[in-house]
Amino acid sequence: MNPQPGTVYLVGTGPGAPDLITLRGLNLIKQSDVILHDRLIPTELLNHARPDAIITNIGKTPNQPSPTQGDINALILEHAHANRSVVRLKGGDPFVFGRGGEEMLACQTANIPCIIVPGVTSAIAAPASINVPVTHRQIARSFTVITATTRDGQLDENLDFTALAKIDTLIILMGTHNLAEITTRLITAGRNPQTPAACIASATTLHQRHVIATLETIATAVDNANIHPPAVTIISPTVTLPDHHAP
Ligand code: SAH
Repeated sequence: MNPQPGTVYLVGTGPGAPDLITLRGLNLIKQSDVILHDRLIPTELLNHARPDAIITNIGKTPNQPSPTQGDINALILEHAHANRSVVRLKGGDPFVFGRGGEEMLACQTANIPCIIVPGVTSAIAAPASINVPVTHRQIARSFTVITATTRDGQLDENLDFTALAKIDTLIILMGTHNLAEITTRLITAGRNPQTPAACIASATTLHQRHVIATLETIATAVDNANIHPPAVTIISPTVTLPDHHAP
């Protein structure tokens, strides 16, 4: 796929390792006029851009003044209206908690063609990086991905913990800081406290770290191990499937 002038490409970079982007995504990076990227992307990918490409970091940094979603949408449209090809680079998959949907709608409203290039989501890649599958025949037939955090960092009160307690594999993004509250609610709602759990930070990067515990102990384990975001927590019988002590 070659980038067209006046077109926006919402491209997922994958979870962190630079070679986990798709070939389509990489080709678009190599040829586009403009690259607008988030904070959590493998920065090595930007080395592939054209020397004359306009490259702007429009990532939101927690607890720091950052561009609003309105600012971001406006910048995307401004470049597209100037007839440039625009790659909007997002970590993981653009439609998994990346506000990609909002950027697509902004393009549609402005009559700007918008093409989605999927990426490998950290929701699946982070568990996979420690050999944990999100489904497995007979022990986990479904998985659910949640973010437990609202815009202001609070636990999302709309989450139905009774329903979530019944999901075979529960994957939590953006939930490291309120993990104790989430796990307590799941146990109160009936999930077995002994269910295996893992938390994987900076998956597929050189800074990757993880802990393995149970639903009951994972929040403390994460604290004790000083695990920091970005991190994915998975609560599932599949966590203990691989031999985590194998070389
Ligand atoms: N669109 C992204 C998710 C964006 S929300 C995707 O599909 O992966 C940002 C959250 O994703 C982080 O708070 C963290 O929970 C998770 N995340 C992103 N990259 C990660 C990584 N390399 N390792 C662990 N978690 C990651």
